[in-house]
Amino acid sequence: MSLSALVFRFIFRHWRAYGPSAVMLVAIALLTVWLPRQVGHLVDGLVARRLDTDGLIREVGLMVLAGLAIYFMRVTWRQLLYAAAYRLGVDLRTRLYERLSLQGPRFYQDRRTGDLMALATNDIDAVEQAAGEAVLAGFDGTMTLLLVIGAMALGIDWRLTLVALLPFPIMGWAFWWISNHVHTASRQSLDNFGHLNDQVHESLSGVRTVRALGLEARSIADFTALADKAAQSSLKAQRWEAAYEPAVSLTLGAATMLSLGMGGYLVWHSELTIGQLTSFSLYLGQMIWPMFAAGWVLSLIERGRAAWDRLRPVLEAPLTVQDHGPVLAIQPGALQAHDVVFSYPGHAQRALSGVSLSVQPGQTLGLVGPTGAGKSTVVRLLLRQFVPDAGSLQWGGVTLADYKLDTLRRAVSWVPQEPFLFSASVAENIALAKPQATRAEVEHVARMAAVHDDILRLPQGYDTPVGERGVTLSGGQRQRVAIARALLADAPLLLLDDALSAVDTDTEARILRHLRELKVQRPERIVIVVSHRLSSVADADHIQVLKEGLVAEQGSHAQLLEQEGWYARQWRYQQLEQQLEADDAAA
Ligand code: ADP
Repeated sequence: MSLSALVFRFIFRHWRAYGPSAVMLVAIALLTVWLPRQVGHLVDGLVARRLDTDGLIREVGLMVLAGLAIYFMRVTWRQLLYAAAYRLGVDLRTRLYERLSLQGPRFYQDRRTGDLMALATNDIDAVEQAAGEAVLAGFDGTMTLLLVIGAMALGIDWRLTLVALLPFPIMGWAFWWISNHVHTASRQSLDNFGHLNDQVHESLSGVRTVRALGLEARSIADFTALADKAAQSSLKAQRWEAAYEPAVSLTLGAATMLSLGMGGYLVWHSELTIGQLTSFSLYLGQMIWPMFAAGWVLSLIERGRAAWDRLRPVLEAPLTVQDHGPVLAIQPGALQAHDVVFSYPGHAQRALSGVSLSVQPGQTLGLVGPTGAGKSTVVRLLLRQFVPDAGSLQWGGVTLADYKLDTLRRAVSWVPQEPFLFSASVAENIALAKPQATRAEVEHVARMAAVHDDILRLPQGYDTPVGERGVTLSGGQRQRVAIARALLADAPLLLLDDALSAVDTDTEARILRHLRELKVQRPERIVIVVSHRLSSVADADHIQVLKEGLVAEQGSHAQLLEQEGWYARQWRYQQLEQQLEADDAAA
């Protein structure tokens, strides 16, 4: 959709605001045109001594009333219109947010967070202004201009009008030329602001790394350079916008000179009264506003178009994860992968080259293997962030892609290695998927996740704010809060994605024991535990060792130890490591 289509559709939907505004603008324009005529009459009346005091008071009184009416209508239309334009901003922001929340990781892979943030603020502001101020000022300016020209040509003298309008085509050309430059400069300015925003976002997220590596000076220099560039490009856009003004002044100056020369000639030959010439020059003065409005409107539109050019591809980008699945409820049965092959978009190398697995309801599967083996990739496919290139992934006999995305995501409680806590209380963070949960329920799952005691030690217990603007929890505490969150969600598939890596082994053992106890309440739940630490999976019903995108070993813990492969070696190594740590702690 183009910017004009967007704006027209919006005007159509919000005709209640735009309609009365337009009517008021017409009334204002008519009154504005009437006023100079009235002044002309007054001058002629005074010159000819036709007006008595009463008549004079009446005529002047009418003019004052007209002035007041103009003032009140201007205030009202602005209020109506700005309220409507704000709505457009809200609509666009909501659409952008919805779109962003539906996109998968592939979309974010080649886009930068700071720039997306700039779209939601700066660019949408520019579109909002194009739909609000620009539309109405454009309408107002055009109408005033036409009425003024009409009044000059029909009400005073068409020859004089023609002469006065001679310089206008040159101004039209100048406007066209300037607005092209405004467009390019605005685009650059918005892009540079996006880069700047991105840099701010990146440096704030990485501030600890920057300090730890002593990179402050370089980081400040980089930032200054970008800020400078953004300021320069913004200045450049404004310089071009400023060029409208001299073009208007020069044109009007030339028009005034031409019309005074011609008007003097006509008065001399008694074809025009002095009053009419006075009205005419007042009319010329009234053309200042439409001319300036034109410049202003053009620059708002060019800014809006440049912003829309940036916004549109994001709003209209196809969803990287398709959601056409018709199945609305998870079917009972096993979770199965059959010969799944997958490469990340844009990467030739296979992340998975034929992985099969099968977990029956109520069973626990352990997924282990060296870094880069493909464990997280399996998880991403299960979460349907990506779709396999070949092979099949099914749950209850239904291919994952045939489930509605929302159904599938609600059915999976995923606990990542680095869970995200929102700026809210601990209790609210745990109750994320079930906001109506009682405090007792929240405490119960916190106990199961072995984090209850930690929470009680926080300054305000369960009501302590955490996340970006609250108390900082340790990595292990964050992981356990996330496990509590997942247990409360009580989904039929629990995916622990290295979710206990920052928790000590004793606590880990406690949590795993609780999970086994919970099985009694939820006998059908499927649990998949992905871990670096083999102790996390030793109890699983079945364990698969992934290596370079293939299943290299599988079986129960005891069977794997007998196979004397990677698992057995790794197990002995980790046991030894644990022993040494315990000895260290004891010493
Ligand atoms: P693990 O979780 O077992 O450490 P991953 O599933 O993360 O392994 O990685 C499997 C393979 O896919 C590796 O070769 C890794 O480099 C590659 N890979 C992982 N994530 C991406 C990504 N976002 N883009 C491209 N390649 C990736």
